[in-house]
Amino acid sequence: MTAAASRLSYLDPARAEPWASFIEQIDRVAPHLGSLSRWIETLKHPKRILVVDVPIVRDDGAIAHYEGYRVQHNLSRGPGKGGVRFHAAVTLNEVMALAGWMTIKNAALGLPFGGAKGGVRIDPRGFSAAELERITRRYTSEIGIVIGPGKDIPAPDIGTSEQTMAWMMDTYSMNVGHTASGVVTGKPVALGGSLGRQEATGRGVYIAAREAGIRVGVPIDAARVVVQGFGNVGGIAARIFRENGAKVIALQDAEATLCNPAGIDIPAALAHAAAHGSLSGFFGAEPLGEEDFWQLECEYFVPAALEGQLTPERARGLRARVVVEGANGPTTPAADDILHERDILVIPDVLANAGGVTVSYFEWVQDFSSFFWSEEEINDRLESIMMKAFDAIWRLAQERKLSIRTAAFVIACKRVLAAREQRGLYP
Ligand code: NAD
Repeated sequence: MTAAASRLSYLDPARAEPWASFIEQIDRVAPHLGSLSRWIETLKHPKRILVVDVPIVRDDGAIAHYEGYRVQHNLSRGPGKGGVRFHAAVTLNEVMALAGWMTIKNAALGLPFGGAKGGVRIDPRGFSAAELERITRRYTSEIGIVIGPGKDIPAPDIGTSEQTMAWMMDTYSMNVGHTASGVVTGKPVALGGSLGRQEATGRGVYIAAREAGIRVGVPIDAARVVVQGFGNVGGIAARIFRENGAKVIALQDAEATLCNPAGIDIPAALAHAAAHGSLSGFFGAEPLGEEDFWQLECEYFVPAALEGQLTPERARGLRARVVVEGANGPTTPAADDILHERDILVIPDVLANAGGVTVSYFEWVQDFSSFFWSEEEINDRLESIMMKAFDAIWRLAQERKLSIRTAAFVIACKRVLAAREQRGLYP
């Protein structure tokens, strides 16, 4: 861990990985920022951190307390924006890193947002729908002092859904006394959600893969694809890869690892996962060892589950041509170096999975104007924003001989730090 990270007293060094990875990524970019590097420490110090107690009465009458977080990493370019994660392994450290990546992602795409993230440390599978509603409402009330349509706008992430966003929107609205649909994105369409939002992240992953494939000569329609994580991001990405002629040969979720070299029937796998909550028991593919999954020969490997999955050891054995990061922070910095040495192209999270926040931006704009766009308009605008960002990042990477991740960070950090410099420090 760097000196800057260790100075933050609220970190538990034993669980420091995601934030330390983020700090390391920032340190790698510093030499490329010219005079703006003077402001670099800004990115190593989250602007605001809120830790909240989330108590509820469980269905059996017991009283239980859970830990919740909202971190606003940087607000120099606009209100905070980033998802809310419900997962048993959520820590403050992880939420800080995820908020940092949101700052970079929003700036890399040119969206007028800062970076934020939230989470509650629970395994949602262990709760009834009524309990989850109580947890969501209490969490929303507790973080209500820092969120709002012009302050910080949450969205779904692992373990949360459009139903979670509906409860969050309702709770916040009850507390402020009027309907405030723009306080969250990823809502149901009936409540001011946007068409195309649910599949936007997976669609963006596909767009990023396609653009990379065009540039390095790996066409999607002849590609073998391996996807880790079969939820909102991985499931939709797999479906769109398949629709565009690729063969998805292996899938892994929290409960199963499956392989079918002839190509998995993705609509059938999606139907199975929707009915059973996981891929476990799906008969359209053969079970595979968890580690063998990381050594399958393929053109595109899409990590779309948790951070830190692509370790140095797995990077040494990976037999993919392109890694497209659907998840946030799936590749450790050391693994990144190994992939670079092995000439495996990595399209980083801050670009590859930015489709979700881009359509969240469209949703927020639509809510403000109460004027809603067609799905075609949304998908067209998503394509154009993603392609513009991809092109600018790719060109910078070629010109300066940088990795795509470093190029994306250079563009983003310059935008954030220029805004910081122009605004100046108060007082
Ligand atoms: P999700 O809850 O819908 O799905 C998560 C998937 O990962 C599930 O299939 C789950 O079984 C699987 N998984 C969990 N732990 C695993 C493990 N140890 N090994 C293998 N698989 C595991 O979540 P999601 O919204 O698809 O998010 C996935 C990733 O994408 C996260 O890193 C999230 O931050 C990122 N992301 C999500 C969005 C979005 O719009 N939902 C946007 C950008 C980035």
